[in-house]
Amino acid sequence: MSATATSTEVSPTNSSDRASAAPASPASQVQAEVPTSLSETLRTLKAAQRKTGSPDLETRLNHLAALEKMVLAYQDRICDAIDKDFGGRSRHESLVAEVYLTVTNIRFIREHLHEWLVTEDREVSWTFLPGRAEVMWQPLGVIGVIAPWNYPVQLALAPLASALAAGNRVMIKPSELVPETAALLQKMIGETFTPDHVCVVTGGADVATEFSKLAFDHLLFTGSTRVGKIVMRAAAENLTPVTLELGGKSPAIVGEAFPIEVAADRIVAGKLFNAGQTCIAPDYVLLPAGKVDAFVAAAKRAAKKLYPSMAGNSDYTAIVNERHHERLKSYLNDALAKGANMVPLLEESLSDSSRKMMPTIVLDAPEDSMIMQEEIFGPLLPIKTYTTLGEAIAYVNDHPHPLALYCFDYDSVGVSRVLRETLAGGVTVNDTMLQFAQEDLPFGGVGASGMGHYHGKEGFETFSKKKPVFYQARVNAVGMMRPPYAKTLDFFLKMMLRK
Ligand code: NAD
Repeated sequence: MSATATSTEVSPTNSSDRASAAPASPASQVQAEVPTSLSETLRTLKAAQRKTGSPDLETRLNHLAALEKMVLAYQDRICDAIDKDFGGRSRHESLVAEVYLTVTNIRFIREHLHEWLVTEDREVSWTFLPGRAEVMWQPLGVIGVIAPWNYPVQLALAPLASALAAGNRVMIKPSELVPETAALLQKMIGETFTPDHVCVVTGGADVATEFSKLAFDHLLFTGSTRVGKIVMRAAAENLTPVTLELGGKSPAIVGEAFPIEVAADRIVAGKLFNAGQTCIAPDYVLLPAGKVDAFVAAAKRAAKKLYPSMAGNSDYTAIVNERHHERLKSYLNDALAKGANMVPLLEESLSDSSRKMMPTIVLDAPEDSMIMQEEIFGPLLPIKTYTTLGEAIAYVNDHPHPLALYCFDYDSVGVSRVLRETLAGGVTVNDTMLQFAQEDLPFGGVGASGMGHYHGKEGFETFSKKKPVFYQARVNAVGMMRPPYAKTLDFFLKMMLRK
């Protein structure tokens, strides 16, 4: 990280236009105070955010409105920056996944925040009447957000929206793998919020490491399970609670009687969106034995419908960088070396230099191959067969809980069996990935795929303290429970503790 770059770039020229409720702490001032070491720089930025109090509903709605306006104003530049970072990212995928989903998420929060913020009356046992109990929602303080590269805008701004709704201040660390987008995030956030309210810190893994050591009041990390463990260890030093949005291998189970053409269409579309670089992409397919040939033929037709020609087709996204491209090629080669077969879904060849990777089905990959062990995160689709639904369920349950599970079955008995007998972060029945787009559904993994939730009301709750308050009445009976203990208490306890 360049401390100077960070602090200057979060500074707008005209702070009076910005949405932050608190008066701006001029960036030049922050910059002047920034000490030399990385950790001190970050601590200084965080210290500037330390404020108490709880913004009222109107203020929070203003923050969210400013965020929405910012995303809408920057939509073209967002698409351009991600396209540059990826070396080819479909503009429509960016508009849908980064802009549209972020904006609908913010709009949903703006529409419902007044309901969520209401202090709730709770029941009081007759013993404590006429006292009164309630639960109030308070901001936790300063929230850290560490974002990955695959949806670099949405996965930074959706947690921000939830955290602002809950009345917090926020520091964001985007991924170093998407430097254009990270710089753009820094610029647009700097123009919209004061740095003591929301700021973006850019830099590499060294910055990320120091960032995760800050004593945040809550830290939301989106990324790999491997780094998630490191982040959780760092947060534990400060007893910082974490939400971990991780990855894993998400299965798609196709039921015996489900039309193969429909399943293939929807699985291939889910797999190839962002070239498979999606945490909730279907990772592999569990198919009834005997349906493989039909599925492969249908998957080829589905890919051809999506991408009639690959040459110069800007609808198909590239692999983000050479390291990930090589990683995917090594999964494929490892599987082939161990006896698997591959079926390219399109009949064209793709030039290696474009980093666009041929969508490919992988058959008979052994369990010990990398493609069956690691999260794929690319356009490779292994198929496994099963003979009974119980066998498919057992396979899923023999592996870490996935972030997503897709079940294709028009028979509700089969669907409810899969839902009851497997545990996953989220499910779409008869399609892929759409659970994520439902603003009113919580989003989050379970076990190795993560912990905690955001989106919708759950996002507001994650970043709020749910504070219970009891109001004692002027006249009450609680004295009876205090020494010197009298016969009335004995009588009361005898009544209450009757066997
Ligand atoms: P990653 O774990 O490599 O990096 C994620 C973020 O962590 C980056 O900002 C990086 O700078 C930071 N980081 C790296 N080393 C760190 C350290 N030592 N301490 C603190 N932070 C560190 O993940 P990625 O490659 O950017 O993203 C891909 C992974 O993210 C996949 O596993 C995918 O499934 C997962 N993912 C999950 C979700 C979800 O919502 N559950 C969404 C998108 C991606």
